[in-house]
Amino acid sequence: MLTKLQSRLRQFTSVAPPPPKSQLQAQKGLGKPGPDAMSTPQLTESRNPALRTLGGDSLFETTRSRAGEKAGQLFQMRGPGGLEKQDPAELREQAVEEAIAGKGKPVDFVNSDGKTEQVAIFQVPFAGEDTYFVRVGDETFQVEFQGGTDADREAFLAQVIDSYSETPPELRSSLQKVVVTPDQGPETATGNRAAATAGDGTITFYDDGRHLSEDIFHHELGHLIGRQQEEKDDGFWTDLGEVFTGEPPPVPDGWDEAAMEDENFTSGYAETDYKRDGNYTEDFAEAWKLYMAAIDGGPEKLAEFREMYPERAEILEDIYPPPEQD
Ligand SMILES: [Zn+2]
Repeated sequence: MLTKLQSRLRQFTSVAPPPPKSQLQAQKGLGKPGPDAMSTPQLTESRNPALRTLGGDSLFETTRSRAGEKAGQLFQMRGPGGLEKQDPAELREQAVEEAIAGKGKPVDFVNSDGKTEQVAIFQVPFAGEDTYFVRVGDETFQVEFQGGTDADREAFLAQVIDSYSETPPELRSSLQKVVVTPDQGPETATGNRAAATAGDGTITFYDDGRHLSEDIFHHELGHLIGRQQEEKDDGFWTDLGEVFTGEPPPVPDGWDEAAMEDENFTSGYAETDYKRDGNYTEDFAEAWKLYMAAIDGGPEKLAEFREMYPERAEILEDIYPPPEQD
């Protein structure tokens, strides 16, 4: 672990410090039109882009409003001038600021489900201002702001931690690293650009991370969880075989059959991708995203999900049994 850490640290380059507040506000505005429906990734790509259409209708809602709506109300905070209303998303950013200032000391972080997590953040002091080790509960991942990106560190970290904290602890080790880059995502056959890609335990967000949302995070993490599940039952001979045959798509055992029995796709993007690649990679990532949203939505949404995707729901509920609903 230490050598791994050290070798990672060696790669770090220093970048400019985060921009002043006024610029941050302007940048938040830019995140508003969410990425659109995703389309086909390159056949040869092991990474799976979530795509956006420039100027199209929004499939993915912006996270800020989502998060606020989900919490359902504004928190009452005791400020210096008495009671003050505060946006839960702002409170999460404050918690992140506090955690960064605390240099690894855990702080309470209330996620958009209203659940409190212990979060500690350690900013790597000798690698510029752009690398953070983030601990949520008992799991740690790394966030790298690369290439001089002017991404709003606190806002980005707050959103990533919020979505990550919705993921059940036993699945969190599928994520090791989040990368934010000013680069544009890879262009695909349809001319769309990826908002993010996932593979090898890493999620990369393009365009300074401005397309980050709860949905995109869960879709991308879905790819990593799919791989984790695929590898779970592999024994020595399977692993050896995969050296020669290549790794199978990152979906749990039985997913293809379940999808065929359900006789549908989890989204238009999943279907387009299937027609191109002949696998259910995007179908699973989309399913994971929808399943996470259904859990957030409550028993009715979950029932709708089960009705729509009965066979797949069984697999998903095995991976992540839905928490008891009130
Ligand atoms: Zn994908």
